[in-house]
Amino acid sequence: MKDTFKHKGLRQQLVNILITKGIRDEKVLNAIGKVPRHLFMDSSFLDHAYQDKAFPIAADQTISQPFTVAFQTELLQVNKTDKVLEIGTGSGYQTAVLCELGVHVYSIERQQELFRKTSNFLPKLGYRAKKLIFGDGYKGLKDEAPFDGIIVTAGAPFVPKPLLSQLKIGGRLVIPVGDAVQVMTLFIRKGAKEFEQHEFGEFRFVPLLEDKN
Ligand code: SAH
Repeated sequence: MKDTFKHKGLRQQLVNILITKGIRDEKVLNAIGKVPRHLFMDSSFLDHAYQDKAFPIAADQTISQPFTVAFQTELLQVNKTDKVLEIGTGSGYQTAVLCELGVHVYSIERQQELFRKTSNFLPKLGYRAKKLIFGDGYKGLKDEAPFDGIIVTAGAPFVPKPLLSQLKIGGRLVIPVGDAVQVMTLFIRKGAKEFEQHEFGEFRFVPLLEDKN
């Protein structure tokens, strides 16, 4: 598990690409500049790790495109020690970016293979999520609610109600909503039953799945 000067150089180039694509948040760019993305992918994909592209990981899933990770993280507007729930741990790359930002991360994954792999792997890199959970993200994580932020990293056919209700007042839910194509959507909780909604263009994610098997 090496992180060489070559990798660091490639990572800086990736950060520059993200800047040209419109990512502005310095804290987010710094975090992307620090997380060794090549270690989150199978070794045969090493050369691709610092291109701005999604790639396959285990269990037919993907590690999100760096731009998408940066864009969603920017929308979350996190502060250190914020409590954030991630739906779709996958490779753990987004989890690691949140850890770099000093966030207390809770992350749910529904595929056991990925859950196991990532639970082992993240601590090896020094990334300690508060909790990694094997379960169904549609339900959120009631025991740990409310959250300052919730980020969904799979395409949701609809907005799961529990996720809205598990936000603090002022909290933000970033969720790609749609079937074949998703619209990146931000909900800001303004009151017990009041939510502001903003939309940010089209993205493509693997689906947020219901009823395992
Ligand atoms: N955040 C990940 C992206 C992984 S892709 C990364 O940075 O690599 C989306 C992930 O969501 C997949 O691992 C998939 O198994 C998971 N997923 C799909 N439906 C889910 C559900 N209902 N609950 C939790 N995780 C789910």
